[in-house]
Amino acid sequence: MKYNIVDRGDEHSRGLTERFHNMAAQHGMQREEAAPEIVLSIGGDGTLLQAFHKYITQIDRIAFVGIHTGRLGFFTDWKPEEIELLADLMMKVRSPEELHVVKYPLVEIEIKTSAGIETHLALNEFTLKGIETTLVAQLHINDEMFETFRGDGICISSPSGSTGYNKSLGGAMVHPALEAIQIAEIASINNRIYRTLGSSVILPKHHHCDIYPSSQQHMLLSLDHLYIQRNDIISIRCRVAADVKVSFARFRPFPFWNRVRDAFIGIEKH
Ligand code: NAP
Ligand code: MN
Repeated sequence: MKYNIVDRGDEHSRGLTERFHNMAAQHGMQREEAAPEIVLSIGGDGTLLQAFHKYITQIDRIAFVGIHTGRLGFFTDWKPEEIELLADLMMKVRSPEELHVVKYPLVEIEIKTSAGIETHLALNEFTLKGIETTLVAQLHINDEMFETFRGDGICISSPSGSTGYNKSLGGAMVHPALEAIQIAEIASINNRIYRTLGSSVILPKHHHCDIYPSSQQHMLLSLDHLYIQRNDIISIRCRVAADVKVSFARFRPFPFWNRVRDAFIGIEKH
């Protein structure tokens, strides 16, 4: 198996990276930066987001695994002291076909401008916000006008991203076995002219939502931790990515609801 590591860059994470490289070298496991089969993220969920976007063009053939060097993360379920155990398990796997992986749905967005259409993927969420002024946009669901939004912005999250920004917006936690996207409002203004649903909405696969911002608006777009400013957008189509998912290598089970409990409620001691 060819592997690479993306770490947070702090001393603790870098130390673990060095230790893993040494163990891998002893076992003849090959490091391959350009086209790895397995990518180890050492840091936080943010580090895994960085690893995901670093390898975005090869996402269909890479499996991710995360070690957390801070609090327990949603994408990072191995503890630093387990690095030897994880390395042993990884080195027993001879080829990508032997790996046990779980696949999670992604958010796909298509940005339409006068120059054409660009496609992007997000692991957690896509957000759209106004800059200087509030965002004004029409929201269509499956080509039917749904509502006129006015407010800070709109957040469209994947199931595994539902525990991120979406949660702070009062959205629901969605199990990643559900192929869906969630649309959550960021501080919508409601009055006689602008009326939004007020609740977040979950769309299944094959449904789509189009956002039509009022023309020439300066907007801030985010894809996970990446931000871009634009003022040339005609519309944005959001849906569950049709052909691609993210794969996580699972060397032991750690159910989603246990992660939610452990991260937000705490582990109950009897
Ligand atoms: P950050 O500011 O460090 O992230 C904010 C927090 O979100 C961190 O504690 C991060 O964990 C955690 N996080 C990331 N993905 C998560 C997930 N899927 N489930 C639960 N928690 C998650 O920035 P970042 O590390 O680059 O992460 C970017 C993400 O932050 C965005 O994709 C968005 O989900 C989230 N965010 C949240 C808010 C908000 O809640 N108001 C605002 C902006 C962004 P780590 O500390 O382990 O990295
Ligand atoms: Mn972070």
